[in-house]
Amino acid sequence: MVGLISLVSLTPRRRPPKPPVNPNRFLDNRSPPPPSDDDDIDRNRSPRPKASDALPLPLYLTNAVFFTLFFSVAYYLLHRWRDKIRYNTPLHVVTITELGAIVALIASFIYLLGFFGIDFVQSFISRADSNDSDRDYLVNEDHRLATCPTPSPIVAKLDPLPEEDEEIVKSVLDGAIPSYSLESRLGDCKRAASIRREALQRLTGRSIEGLPLDGFDYDSILGQCCEMPVGYVQIPVGIAGPLLLDGYEYSVPMATTEGCLVASTNRGCKAMYVSGGATSTVLKDGMTRAPVVRFASARRASELKFFLESPENFETLAVVFNRSSRFARLQSVMCTLAGKNAYVRFSCSTGDAMGMNMVSKGVQNVLEFLTEDFPDMDVIGISGNFCSDKKPAAVNWIEGRGKSVVCEAVIRGETVNKVLKTSVASLVELNMLKNLTGSAIAGSLGGFNAHASNIVSAVFLATGQDPAQNVESSQCITMMEAINDGKDIHISVTMPSIEVGTVGGGTQLASQSACLNLLGVKGASKEAPGMNSRRLATIVAGAVLAGELSLMSAIAAGQLVKSHMKYNRSSRDITGATTTTTT
Ligand code: ADP
Repeated sequence: MVGLISLVSLTPRRRPPKPPVNPNRFLDNRSPPPPSDDDDIDRNRSPRPKASDALPLPLYLTNAVFFTLFFSVAYYLLHRWRDKIRYNTPLHVVTITELGAIVALIASFIYLLGFFGIDFVQSFISRADSNDSDRDYLVNEDHRLATCPTPSPIVAKLDPLPEEDEEIVKSVLDGAIPSYSLESRLGDCKRAASIRREALQRLTGRSIEGLPLDGFDYDSILGQCCEMPVGYVQIPVGIAGPLLLDGYEYSVPMATTEGCLVASTNRGCKAMYVSGGATSTVLKDGMTRAPVVRFASARRASELKFFLESPENFETLAVVFNRSSRFARLQSVMCTLAGKNAYVRFSCSTGDAMGMNMVSKGVQNVLEFLTEDFPDMDVIGISGNFCSDKKPAAVNWIEGRGKSVVCEAVIRGETVNKVLKTSVASLVELNMLKNLTGSAIAGSLGGFNAHASNIVSAVFLATGQDPAQNVESSQCITMMEAINDGKDIHISVTMPSIEVGTVGGGTQLASQSACLNLLGVKGASKEAPGMNSRRLATIVAGAVLAGELSLMSAIAAGQLVKSHMKYNRSSRDITGATTTTTT
């Protein structure tokens, strides 16, 4: 019997009860306790041990044993009770067998109550604890909570909303108002964002308190930069410079969260400055788009290629293409076949715009025009990836996309020693073995540099460029050569695909526009269309040159890890931060 009782105490519940819902969980601003083993949403951990694991028999057999025991002893005792009444035997006189039966009845009753009864009782308790608002329903039922890999603290803070907004939040939560339609319904972008973030917090049960709402012009992004906003991310902007480039001094804004990056670029700028600055040349300026079209035969696809690449047809195509914008000017058409499919890479200048919209419209015009001569042409997609946008591709590396820029500087030997704390010979050797040979061994595609993408990304973010175009814009080969009998060093970066604009996209947003203004390249150029965007591309290349110089020097001098440990880990004092960043 002791065994039976101890079995009862180990008896599991059929399934763990749902944790009771705290009606104030969203209002509770305190940190929640760390997730316990009872946390229903913790799916990532190893399965928790269950009491049923301790049973000598499988659960279903144990249940069967106790069911049988309960009903058989109950039947036996009732039978005995009836006999005692019939034969006038006193009820309190019990035999050993009857005593055993009573104990067995109690034990099996406790087991069955423990197994089947607790959930039932708890359902009443939790119902009493919870309120039945939409919010609790949604949070409990929200499958995203269950699929979230690691539960994060549920501390969403509910700001009191005006009653009218509260109603709208509820309508968003119950699906009566689509979240995406808030701006058009309310006609107030800030209010729409505030209602959406409130609904989001209630829906997910997770706080986004640290993501600011105030201090941003939500009207400025409507219909062009970001849909369904709930706030904005803050990225610190540091300044590297002066960057002495083509006789001008630039203070280069860099938006980054990587310690050392700005300091390192700044050091490179200094080395360039004291050596007389850098010189840049824009080799090419053309944005590309390449649709894919299909024919019934490779012969017909070939005919299209010959038509498009024929010099006699270029003028006609250019007239049709250039209708897309007063700034779009068709430069070239290149057609490549894959069987009966043709990939036509159009390249055009786009003024001060980065130009993706412009080139796409021009391509659309030409495709419509081509249907007259090629009615059997099946346009599969306006982009066939031969463009090639936001993907590493040899075509950009070889042919260029956006602005192709080469930037060079001569750094005097004494500057290499004093500012960069290394030597010309060490830099040249490291460049050969790392940026050239090492990248060749890695099978790199345009990655013959130390960290061009670090600088490109930071300047892109600060100036409102499309950060995804960092992929091809960071293609760069860094060359270093000892000159003047080995005393000085010639360094250059060649970047064939810098895709930047100073109008359109994110460039018109207040912060990004301020950074463009700092560089003197904000908006459309008054001198000639495209001057601002080309100058921005050269600034990107010049900053990359500074970054390459500084990081390569740090590696040559063996300072990389030391510097990172100092400025990326603990120190808040960046005085004297000069050296490195991540490669
Ligand atoms: P993108 O083509 O880079 O996606 P957008 O289409 O957003 O750029 O912005 C380009 C728009 O800016 C076009 O409508 C164009 O007419 C206008 N625009 C005004 N000034 C210029 C300029 N100097 N260069 C290019 N576009 C300009």
